[in-house]
Amino acid sequence: MRTVLFSAPPARWPQYRAPLARALDEAGVAARIVTRTDAPGEVDYIVYAPNGGLRDFTPFSHARAVLSLWAGVETIVTNTTLTQPLCRMVDAGLEEGMVEWVTGHVLRHHLGMDRQILGQNGVWDPVVPPLARDRRVAVLGLGALGRACAQALAALRFDVAGWSRTARALDGVDCQHGAEGLRRVLGRAEIVVLLLPLTAETENLMDAERLGWLPEGAVLINPGRGALIDDAALLAALDSGRLGHATLDVFRTEPLPPAHPFWPHPRVTVTPHIASETRPDTAARVIAENIRRAEAGEPLLFLVDRARGY
Ligand code: NAP
Repeated sequence: MRTVLFSAPPARWPQYRAPLARALDEAGVAARIVTRTDAPGEVDYIVYAPNGGLRDFTPFSHARAVLSLWAGVETIVTNTTLTQPLCRMVDAGLEEGMVEWVTGHVLRHHLGMDRQILGQNGVWDPVVPPLARDRRVAVLGLGALGRACAQALAALRFDVAGWSRTARALDGVDCQHGAEGLRRVLGRAEIVVLLLPLTAETENLMDAERLGWLPEGAVLINPGRGALIDDAALLAALDSGRLGHATLDVFRTEPLPPAHPFWPHPRVTVTPHIASETRPDTAARVIAENIRRAEAGEPLLFLVDRARGY
């Protein structure tokens, strides 16, 4: 019988309790799941959410793996007390949710929906948007989430380019990588979606220089991580009208402080880190499958490369 510690905010436990028990059962793993323990040395696996409060992994001397409920691992990847393998979350529900959020916000800007929704004051002013095929969209980050979004946008016939660290190939997407690739992708993008992890390399990626590579009036959509963007440079680009709009789901400080200039800015849309969430039913199966693999001595899924940072 294995012991699995569920280390997440207490509100998560009622959501995960039954799906986790069921998934472990279906995976053929005999385990008891606990939400706290006085015997950390007896814990075999840790199901982990960064906002659950656990920071020191030293007492979990026999834990075989830490299984993150989150896709983004920037707050744990540099934790020196964590010596066990760390797996991040790749979840079908998370992916579907992100595709819906990204597609919705791209369509908002593509179709110019605000003109209609925010009121035309009795002015009959037909502005016909171009077809998606004539709208150039860029997706930075072609991992689990970026790939799914790029392909969904391509299926709607947007002219999609993507960017990643290493070379990738995706049907219907102009895939670029490396520094030159970024310049090409940004230089043509009317709408940019950030789906990169936060690492030492990607922090402040969208600084004044890179924002300046975007065409006049471009729209930035960020469901990745707040620190991918230099906030001051973004505000300057929006204030000057060089950038048309920024739709931001993630921020350096969350919740976004009430006095932050993003809140009242007419060219900024703030959403409260809801672009997508891990879904208990599908995520529990990912966790259970990894525990089954660890027990069987098979390679773990979605292992984080600690040196790379994601
Ligand atoms: P992933 O599968 O690890 O993919 C990351 C992608 O970013 C890969 O294509 C990778 O390139 C690329 N990349 C990493 N470092 C790079 C660099 N220095 N230069 C260029 N490309 C780089 O991650 P994911 O599952 O798609 O998730 C992406 C991020 O979304 C997460 O890290 C998290 O921050 C965020 N997220 C947000 C929400 C929300 O609700 N707002 C929800 C879930 C996740 P390679 O392909 O070459 O490795």
